[in-house]
Amino acid sequence: EITLRYVPGIGAVNGGATLLSFIDVTEREQAGQMRRDFVANVSHELRTPLTALMGFIETLRGAARDDATARDRFLNIMEGEASRMNRLVGDLLSLNRVETEERVRPQETVNLKAHLASTLKTLAPVAESQNVALHLYAPEERIEVKGDPDQLQQVFTNLIENAIKYGGDKVEARLTFSERDAAVRGAAARIQVVDNGPGIDAVHLPRLTERFYRADSHRSRELGGTGLGLAIVKHIINRHRGRLRVESDLGKGSVFTIILPTTKAP
Ligand code: ADP
Repeated sequence: EITLRYVPGIGAVNGGATLLSFIDVTEREQAGQMRRDFVANVSHELRTPLTALMGFIETLRGAARDDATARDRFLNIMEGEASRMNRLVGDLLSLNRVETEERVRPQETVNLKAHLASTLKTLAPVAESQNVALHLYAPEERIEVKGDPDQLQQVFTNLIENAIKYGGDKVEARLTFSERDAAVRGAAARIQVVDNGPGIDAVHLPRLTERFYRADSHRSRELGGTGLGLAIVKHIINRHRGRLRVESDLGKGSVFTIILPTTKAP
């Protein structure tokens, strides 16, 4: 049933067509607001390191000019701030790419176990430097999906990097196959990234994949997070017609699950 509503600028609304235009306007307004918020966020995220850089340049010109120790220290901090900006721009470009492209290209066959193993290998030095043990559990059989290997690699990288960054001392990547998964209505490959860290409070879970949303803002910034990693993951998984699930137990850890449709049984 449709209720009568007066919308300024549209007039008395009665029934289908006009109501649709009312919804349309609202959606457009929301989209406009989201765009403005996004631009404001990006500007803020970029301006913070930029302001720091400008401050240090000023100091290097003045007080620290003849102090070699201070100069080295400041240059190190400046390098950190510059790489933060670099990471942010890189993530923004990735997000833009996965948000705008409609179809997944290329459509290649991706061997998930090999793909996960290579991601873990790349991240092994980071894990080791933070005393985190990495494990991969995967069945003997080959589990494959169709998709973009680079994008899937980015998904695994973002999730495992987060688990190392925010987790405890152990991260597991688990790969399984299921003949029928309700989430994708068919055969599915399931990838889980499990950590034994502090977990995420339930209030944050529904918003975790929003751009720039952080459960612990201070910690994310301290660890060099851009706040875009999970937004990128969500878009890539959507474009692969998959699902992303997050479960977390405060004090025990988090589980990020990706379910990808696959046509072939192992
Ligand atoms: P960031 O660049 O801040 O890591 P993400 O989009 O990757 O951004 O993640 C969003 C937020 O989710 C993080 O800021 C962090 O608070 C939280 N988060 C993500 N993964 C985990 C995890 N494994 N354990 C605890 N918190 C996590």
